[in-house]
Amino acid sequence: MLQRGENNFEPAYWEAAINRPDVRRHPYSTGKVRDTISQFSPPVRFGKVYRKQLLDAKHVHVMLFANALNIDTDSDARTVTKIDIGTILGRRFSVRAKQFVLATGGIENARLLLSSNKVPAAGFGNGNDLVGRYFMDHPRIMSAKVNFKKEWARNKLYDIKYHY
Ligand SMILES: Cc1cc2nc3c(=O)[nH]c(=O)nc-3n(C[C@H](O)[C@H](O)[C@H](O)COP(=O)(O)OP(=O)(O)OC[C@H]3O[C@@H](n4cnc5c(N)ncnc54)[C@H](O)[C@@H]3O)c2cc1C
Repeated sequence: MLQRGENNFEPAYWEAAINRPDVRRHPYSTGKVRDTISQFSPPVRFGKVYRKQLLDAKHVHVMLFANALNIDTDSDARTVTKIDIGTILGRRFSVRAKQFVLATGGIENARLLLSSNKVPAAGFGNGNDLVGRYFMDHPRIMSAKVNFKKEWARNKLYDIKYHY
Protein backbone atom coordinates (compact mmCIF):
# COMPACT_ATOMS: atom_id res chain seq x y z
CA MET A 1 0.00 0.00 0.00
CA LEU A 2 2.88 2.35 0.70
CA GLN A 3 4.62 1.42 -2.56
CA ARG A 4 7.88 0.38 -1.00
CA GLY A 5 10.32 -2.14 -2.41
CA GLU A 6 10.80 -5.74 -1.37
CA ASN A 7 9.69 -6.61 2.14
CA ASN A 8 13.27 -7.36 3.07
CA PHE A 9 15.39 -5.49 5.58
CA GLU A 10 18.61 -7.49 5.34
CA PRO A 11 21.53 -5.21 4.40
CA ALA A 12 23.17 -8.02 2.42
CA TYR A 13 20.05 -8.45 0.31
CA TRP A 14 19.99 -4.77 -0.67
CA GLU A 15 23.72 -4.65 -1.26
CA ALA A 16 23.29 -7.42 -3.82
CA ALA A 17 20.02 -6.03 -5.20
CA ILE A 18 21.38 -2.60 -6.08
CA ASN A 19 24.62 -4.15 -7.29
CA ARG A 20 26.64 -0.95 -7.32
CA PRO A 21 30.38 -1.31 -6.80
CA ASP A 22 30.52 2.23 -5.41
CA VAL A 23 28.04 1.37 -2.66
CA ARG A 24 29.48 -1.15 -0.24
CA ARG A 25 28.78 -1.85 3.38
CA HIS A 26 31.29 -0.55 5.86
CA PRO A 27 33.57 -3.22 7.27
CA TYR A 28 32.47 -2.89 10.87
CA SER A 29 34.35 -5.52 12.77
CA THR A 30 33.53 -4.90 16.44
CA GLY A 31 29.83 -5.75 16.22
CA LYS A 32 29.10 -2.50 18.07
CA VAL A 33 27.83 -0.79 14.93
CA ARG A 34 24.98 -2.31 13.00
CA ASP A 35 23.74 -1.66 9.48
CA THR A 36 20.00 -1.07 9.27
CA ILE A 37 17.77 -0.66 6.27
CA SER A 38 15.04 1.98 5.94
CA GLN A 39 12.62 2.12 3.06
CA PHE A 40 10.86 5.34 2.08
CA SER A 41 7.39 5.61 0.68
CA PRO A 42 7.23 7.91 -2.43
CA PRO A 43 4.93 9.07 -0.46
CA VAL A 44 1.53 7.64 -1.39
CA ARG A 45 -1.51 9.91 -1.14
CA PHE A 46 -4.12 7.34 -0.16
CA GLY A 47 -7.07 9.57 -1.05
CA LYS A 48 -5.92 9.77 -4.65
CA VAL A 49 -4.33 6.37 -5.18
CA TYR A 50 -7.04 4.31 -3.47
CA ARG A 51 -10.05 6.51 -4.23
CA LYS A 52 -11.56 4.14 -6.80
CA GLN A 53 -11.05 1.08 -4.62
CA LEU A 54 -12.72 2.84 -1.72
CA LEU A 55 -15.65 3.98 -3.89
CA ASP A 56 -16.06 0.45 -5.30
CA ALA A 57 -15.72 -1.34 -1.96
CA LYS A 58 -19.03 -2.86 -0.89
CA HIS A 59 -18.36 -2.64 2.82
CA VAL A 60 -16.62 0.72 3.04
CA HIS A 61 -18.39 4.05 3.21
CA VAL A 62 -15.98 6.98 3.45
CA MET A 63 -17.24 10.12 5.15
CA LEU A 64 -14.88 13.05 4.76
CA PHE A 65 -14.98 16.05 7.11
CA ALA A 66 -16.87 13.92 9.65
CA ASN A 67 -15.25 14.36 13.04
CA ALA A 68 -15.89 11.88 15.81
CA LEU A 69 -16.96 14.00 18.78
CA ASN A 70 -18.02 11.41 21.31
CA ILE A 71 -18.02 7.67 21.89
CA ASP A 72 -21.41 6.75 23.29
CA THR A 73 -21.76 3.64 25.42
CA ASP A 74 -24.37 1.66 27.28
CA SER A 75 -25.01 2.56 30.92
CA ASP A 76 -22.17 0.44 32.36
CA ALA A 77 -19.69 1.59 29.68
CA ARG A 78 -19.01 -1.93 28.45
CA THR A 79 -20.35 -1.61 24.91
CA VAL A 80 -20.04 1.21 22.41
CA THR A 81 -23.48 2.02 21.07
CA LYS A 82 -22.74 4.86 18.64
CA ILE A 83 -20.24 7.51 17.64
CA ASP A 84 -21.47 11.09 17.60
CA ILE A 85 -20.20 12.95 14.57
CA GLY A 86 -19.93 16.67 13.79
CA THR A 87 -18.89 18.59 10.72
CA ILE A 88 -17.21 21.95 10.90
CA LEU A 89 -20.35 23.53 9.40
CA GLY A 90 -22.39 22.29 12.36
CA ARG A 91 -24.09 19.15 11.05
CA ARG A 92 -24.55 16.52 13.73
CA PHE A 93 -25.34 12.84 13.32
CA SER A 94 -24.42 9.45 14.76
CA VAL A 95 -22.98 6.26 13.38
CA ARG A 96 -24.00 2.90 14.75
CA ALA A 97 -22.17 -0.34 14.04
CA LYS A 98 -21.64 -3.80 15.49
CA GLN A 99 -17.96 -3.09 15.96
CA PHE A 100 -15.95 0.11 16.09
CA VAL A 101 -12.24 0.66 15.52
CA LEU A 102 -10.65 3.62 17.25
CA ALA A 103 -8.00 4.81 14.79
CA THR A 104 -7.73 8.57 15.15
CA GLY A 105 -3.99 8.64 15.85
CA GLY A 106 -1.83 8.50 18.95
CA ILE A 107 -2.91 11.78 20.54
CA GLU A 108 -6.51 11.99 19.35
CA ASN A 109 -7.30 8.41 20.39
CA ALA A 110 -6.53 9.32 24.00
CA ARG A 111 -8.25 12.71 23.78
CA LEU A 112 -11.42 11.18 22.36
CA LEU A 113 -11.53 8.47 25.04
CA LEU A 114 -11.04 11.05 27.80
CA SER A 115 -13.61 13.46 26.44
CA SER A 116 -16.16 10.64 26.05
CA ASN A 117 -16.98 10.95 29.72
CA LYS A 118 -20.73 10.64 30.12
CA VAL A 119 -20.07 7.21 31.69
CA PRO A 120 -17.66 6.91 33.42
CA ALA A 121 -16.73 10.49 34.30
CA ALA A 122 -12.99 9.74 34.06
CA GLY A 123 -13.38 8.91 30.36
CA PHE A 124 -14.20 5.79 28.40
CA GLY A 125 -11.71 3.00 29.08
CA ASN A 126 -9.92 5.10 31.67
CA GLY A 127 -10.72 3.06 34.75
CA ASN A 128 -7.05 3.01 35.75
CA ASP A 129 -6.36 6.66 34.92
CA LEU A 130 -3.77 5.59 32.36
CA VAL A 131 -5.29 6.79 29.09
CA GLY A 132 -3.06 9.50 27.64
CA ARG A 133 -0.26 8.90 30.11
CA TYR A 134 3.24 7.79 29.09
CA PHE A 135 3.09 9.48 25.70
CA MET A 136 6.45 8.87 24.04
CA ASP A 137 7.98 10.67 21.09
CA HIS A 138 11.25 9.62 19.47
CA PRO A 139 13.75 10.77 22.07
CA ARG A 140 17.13 11.41 20.54
CA ILE A 141 20.33 13.22 21.33
CA MET A 142 23.20 14.33 19.18
CA SER A 143 25.85 11.97 20.48
CA ALA A 144 28.48 11.95 17.77
CA LYS A 145 29.22 12.87 14.23
CA VAL A 146 31.29 10.48 12.17
CA ASN A 147 33.19 11.71 9.17
CA PHE A 148 34.21 8.79 7.04
CA LYS A 149 37.34 8.70 4.98
CA LYS A 150 37.04 9.72 1.37
CA GLU A 151 36.39 6.30 -0.08
CA TRP A 152 33.44 5.78 2.28
CA ALA A 153 32.06 9.31 2.32
CA ARG A 154 29.64 8.89 -0.55
CA ASN A 155 26.31 8.75 1.14
CA LYS A 156 24.95 11.31 3.58
CA LEU A 157 22.95 8.58 5.28
CA TYR A 158 26.22 7.20 6.55
CA ASP A 159 26.65 10.27 8.73
CA ILE A 160 25.71 8.94 12.14
CA LYS A 161 24.29 11.92 13.95
CA TYR A 162 21.74 10.58 16.35
CA HIS A 163 21.75 8.00 19.03
CA TYR A 164 18.35 6.45 19.83
C1 LIG B 1 6.22 13.75 11.33
C2 LIG B 1 5.99 12.25 11.43
C3 LIG B 1 6.84 11.40 10.74
C4 LIG B 1 6.67 10.02 10.82
N1 LIG B 1 7.50 9.20 10.10
C5 LIG B 1 7.30 7.87 10.11
C6 LIG B 1 8.13 7.02 9.33
O1 LIG B 1 9.04 7.46 8.62
N2 LIG B 1 7.90 5.69 9.38
C7 LIG B 1 6.89 5.16 10.13
O2 LIG B 1 6.70 3.95 10.13
N3 LIG B 1 6.09 5.96 10.87
C8 LIG B 1 6.28 7.29 10.88
N4 LIG B 1 5.48 8.09 11.64
C9 LIG B 1 4.46 7.46 12.47
C10 LIG B 1 3.23 7.09 11.64
O3 LIG B 1 2.85 8.20 10.85
C11 LIG B 1 2.11 6.71 12.57
O4 LIG B 1 2.54 5.69 13.45
C12 LIG B 1 0.92 6.20 11.76
O5 LIG B 1 0.53 7.13 10.81
C13 LIG B 1 -0.24 5.94 12.71
O6 LIG B 1 -1.32 5.51 11.94
P1 LIG B 1 -2.77 5.60 12.47
O7 LIG B 1 -3.66 5.08 11.37
O8 LIG B 1 -2.86 4.95 13.81
O9 LIG B 1 -3.07 7.15 12.72
P2 LIG B 1 -2.97 8.39 11.72
O10 LIG B 1 -2.17 8.11 10.52
O11 LIG B 1 -2.60 9.56 12.59
O12 LIG B 1 -4.49 8.55 11.23
C14 LIG B 1 -5.47 9.05 12.07
C15 LIG B 1 -6.59 9.60 11.17
O13 LIG B 1 -7.71 9.93 11.99
C16 LIG B 1 -8.21 11.20 11.62
N5 LIG B 1 -8.82 11.78 12.81
C17 LIG B 1 -8.21 12.33 13.90
N6 LIG B 1 -9.11 12.72 14.80
C18 LIG B 1 -10.33 12.40 14.30
C19 LIG B 1 -11.67 12.56 14.76
N7 LIG B 1 -11.96 13.09 15.95
N8 LIG B 1 -12.67 12.14 13.96
C20 LIG B 1 -12.42 11.59 12.75
N9 LIG B 1 -11.17 11.41 12.25
C21 LIG B 1 -10.15 11.81 13.02
C22 LIG B 1 -6.99 11.97 11.14
O14 LIG B 1 -7.41 13.01 10.28
C23 LIG B 1 -6.19 10.88 10.43
O15 LIG B 1 -6.60 10.74 9.08
C24 LIG B 1 5.61 9.47 11.59
C25 LIG B 1 4.76 10.34 12.27
C26 LIG B 1 4.94 11.71 12.20
C27 LIG B 1 3.99 12.63 12.95
